[in-house]
Amino acid sequence: MMAELNTKKKIVRNNEKGIQNVRFIVQALFALLCVWIGFEFYGFIQYLESGGTTQFVERPPGADGFLPISSLMSFYLFLMTGAIHQAHPAGLFIFFAIILISIVFGKAFCSWLCPIGYLSEIIADVWKKIFKKNIQLPKWLDYPLRSLKYLLLGFLFYSVFFIMSVVAVKAFLNSPYKIVSDIKMWYFFIDISQFSLIVIGILFLLSIPIRGFWCRYLCPYGALLGITALLSPSKIKRNSLNCIDCGLCNKACPASIKVDKLKTVISDECTTCMNCVDVCPVDDTLQLEIVPVKMRINKRYVAIGVVSIFVMITGAGMISGKWQNVISKEEYLIHHKQLNSYGHPTSTESVKKFNRDANKQPEDVVDDKVEEDILNKQQN
Ligand code: SF4
Ligand code: SF4
Repeated sequence: MMAELNTKKKIVRNNEKGIQNVRFIVQALFALLCVWIGFEFYGFIQYLESGGTTQFVERPPGADGFLPISSLMSFYLFLMTGAIHQAHPAGLFIFFAIILISIVFGKAFCSWLCPIGYLSEIIADVWKKIFKKNIQLPKWLDYPLRSLKYLLLGFLFYSVFFIMSVVAVKAFLNSPYKIVSDIKMWYFFIDISQFSLIVIGILFLLSIPIRGFWCRYLCPYGALLGITALLSPSKIKRNSLNCIDCGLCNKACPASIKVDKLKTVISDECTTCMNCVDVCPVDDTLQLEIVPVKMRINKRYVAIGVVSIFVMITGAGMISGKWQNVISKEEYLIHHKQLNSYGHPTSTESVKKFNRDANKQPEDVVDDKVEEDILNKQQN
């Protein structure tokens, strides 16, 4: 301890500009993009509801980003076959972008782009403004609750990667249910049941005093990014020789990480929001670093990097011509009429049964199933 005190350097004030305003702007712009996608999707639904009599409004491919299970299945199919499934291809590119961001910058998608994360931050900030601090759950409750999102992720992974064969995944992605899952999700929120409304309402209300309640305890996407973020070489590093133990980083951390007690933040909850780095009053004390090469990452490069990766990967999807799906408006019109008859497996047993049934069919039959469905319906 004495040796450490003796080697402390003269304190130099950290005059670097904070990055939180930039982060807020990036989050707001991304949220606006999602709202825009929602408007376009509304136009598409209006077209379907008119039975094709109004002017055609194209389905926005960005809607695929709201179908994480589809993306996970497409990812599995891509890993096993190298093919990009054509039902929701944009979802796969968005999935790749999000995973790459978390490999390079940790769980930065959550604090820089995710609209749910953004909304959670806004409502938790309102509480903090009024009551000065958010509620932190005690450890005995916090730890088991945090494991819930991993259980959800584990169930999804187990169902897709261990129960379903490639043929079954392909059959599921080809199924009418999966093709219209975005439309079904739309109606789920438009005609929301009382039960679902109560559940969403409770989650919303809990997220006001408890910062990021959904993200911290329940979001399976967050769980996946937490795991990939642990593998990321970029970590928040604290120089204990410069640190004056003011505890400001600790107070500023939305993930309740005890930054002031760590030399390297290795946590699945760190979202690379850079709040701790911004508030640290001592120069050259807290920074994001590529740990293996001890290279400091300037805060601005996090902003530029996160946005660039997202734009580059999704842009590659657009330029390659694989961004749009191949479902025609005629197919959508037919499926829209049958919407209520389409369902999906809801338990491990039903996933196993689906897998068995799919494997009984020759693969080419599975591939042609959608087209056959449509033809039959047209003839009827
Ligand atoms: S440790 Fe720093 S970068 Fe990570 S979540 Fe906390 S404040 Fe944000
Ligand atoms: S903000 Fe954290 S790292 Fe910076 S001086 Fe204070 S305790 Fe140390």
